[in-house]
Amino acid sequence: TYLSLNGSGGLKWYRPLRLQHVLDLKSRYLDAKLVIGNTEIGIEMRLKGIQYQVLVCVACVPELNKLSVKDDGWEIGAEVRLSALLKVFRKANKERADHETSSCKAFIEQIKWFAGTQIKNVASVGGNICTASPISDLNPLWMVVGAKFQIIDCQGNIKTVAAEYFFLGYRKVDLAGTEILLSIFLPWTRPFKFVKEFEQAHRRDDDIAIVNAGIRVCLEEKNEKWVVSGASIAYGGVAPLSLSTTKTKDYLNAKTWNNELL
Ligand code: FAD
Repeated sequence: TYLSLNGSGGLKWYRPLRLQHVLDLKSRYLDAKLVIGNTEIGIEMRLKGIQYQVLVCVACVPELNKLSVKDDGWEIGAEVRLSALLKVFRKANKERADHETSSCKAFIEQIKWFAGTQIKNVASVGGNICTASPISDLNPLWMVVGAKFQIIDCQGNIKTVAAEYFFLGYRKVDLAGTEILLSIFLPWTRPFKFVKEFEQAHRRDDDIAIVNAGIRVCLEEKNEKWVVSGASIAYGGVAPLSLSTTKTKDYLNAKTWNNELL
């Protein structure tokens, strides 16, 4: 579908139905904006006065809407909606071994406080990631759970970037004009690997966070003590981008897990 919204070609709107068509459009229009739920783009255009020339609605592209369970984790298409994600995570939480779903539990808890149902029904995972808001509720979690982002370019080449390194600055991600986010890989957690979400807002319901965080700790038993074998903490709301606390992560490594350390 192609629609020019004003006779002089002010705004071009495309609605491709295949990934190849999305890639073709991206090679033709480097500045084209993908749009899914429109919950970010809509605000930019209506309230912030930003004018885009080419919008490509990718809400109906099957390759971007896949959600599959693999032996080692989830493959989540970039345009999967938050409600759909919540539904499959809740199901997995009931059906899979408890130790595998620590990340899923953290996402379930965080998405509970994410906007209202109407927004969650249309807002996509990829839209949230690629907006790279410094107060995104989900990006600190993607960073600590070891998620990997699959990026595809106009030629169909796919590369993988660890979520931890994808956010470069204020609303800036590691994507060239010729690239889009294809999918997200979320690994299952293993025994003694714990993931926890955190959000502090003025109101409990329906409010933007003041600060949020994703926290992961891996423990192992050594000489009858629990020792940290890996940790990762990322904060939102404290800097222009979701921020990984690398010094704390290094400090925690190999320390005995007790109240004093906490
Ligand atoms: P869109 O607006 O459709 O697109 C957003 C951006 O991502 C665009 O620049 C688009 O080009 C780009 N993009 C999308 N997919 C891709 C891709 N595959 N490759 C490259 N670029 C891509 N956010 C929170 O974190 N927590 C909240 O609690 C929260 N509450 C909200 C409440 C309201 C009322 C509103 C309006 C927004 C809220 N948001 C919140 C922000 C927003 O809903 C999310 O960021 C949402 O996930 C964006 O998804 P979308 O599909 O609507 O994005």
